Amino acid sequence: MKPSPVVPVVELRGVSRRYDVGGEVVTALAETDLQIQRGEYVAIMGPSGSGKSTLLNVLGCLDRPDSGEYLLDGRLVSRLPDRELSHVRGRQIGFVFQSFQLLARADAASNVELPLRYSDTPRVERKARALSALERVGLAGRARHRPNELSGGQRQRVAIARALVQSPSLVLADEPTGNLDTSTGESILALFDELHRDGTTIVLVTHDADVARHARRVVTMRDGRVESDRSNS
Ligand code: ADP
Ligand code: MG
Repeated sequence: MKPSPVVPVVELRGVSRRYDVGGEVVTALAETDLQIQRGEYVAIMGPSGSGKSTLLNVLGCLDRPDSGEYLLDGRLVSRLPDRELSHVRGRQIGFVFQSFQLLARADAASNVELPLRYSDTPRVERKARALSALERVGLAGRARHRPNELSGGQRQRVAIARALVQSPSLVLADEPTGNLDTSTGESILALFDELHRDGTTIVLVTHDADVARHARRVVTMRDGRVESDRSNS
C-alpha cells in the first residue's frame, strides 16, 4: 500500500522520553510535537544534552516514547511490540552514523546488502540492488573492497548506500561528517544534497552551522524541547 502524499512521513504528538538516573528523572524529550513531510531535508541542532540523539532514536524506532504518539507514514508505531518495531525499522529507516558502523570483514557490496537479508529478497536481486546503491554513491568500482581498503569518505558512502538500499521512508544521520575532514565532509554533504533533490526524506543531527545550512529546515532543541523551527532560505 502506497501512503498518500498528504500523510506526513513523521508525526510526533506530545512525545516524551524520560530516563531514571540513580533515582533522578532526566527528561530527554518533553512533550515534543514535530511533523516532517515527504521529501523534506531537516537539520536538528542544539547543545549537547538537549535531546537530539534521543529524538533521532525515537524517529528511527530504536527507542520508544514513554508518552505521546509517533506516526510513521501514517502508522502508529509508538506502541508496537519490539519485534514489530524492529521490523518497521528494518524496512522503513536508513541510518547513517558518525562512525560509519560497517562490518570490517565484509566487502562494500556485502555491507550494503545487509539490510536486505532480513527481508525475503532473493539473492540475485540483493546483489543487483546493492550494486545499484553503490553506483548511486559513486562507488561502483569499489564493491569488492573491505572497509580498511577504503578512505573515510568512501566508508561513509558505503554506509549511505546501505541506508538507501531498501528505499526507506526516512534517512536518519547522526553527525555524518563528524569523523571526516572538511573537504571530505563537503563531498558527503553534496551527496545528501543530491539525495534530497531526488526526493529522499532526510533528518540530520549536527552541531555545525555549516552542515545545517545544507538542510531546508532547521529544528533547534533545548532541554528536550523544540526551541525553534525555521526554514533555511
Ligand atoms: P544530545 O544528543 O542532544 O546530546 P541526548 O538525547 O543524548 O542529547 O540526551 C538528552 C538528555 O538525556 C541528556 O541529559 C542525557 O544525559 C540524557 N540521556 C540520554 N540517554 C540516556 C540514557 N541512556 N540514560 C540516561 N540518561 C540519558
Ligand atoms: Mg547526541
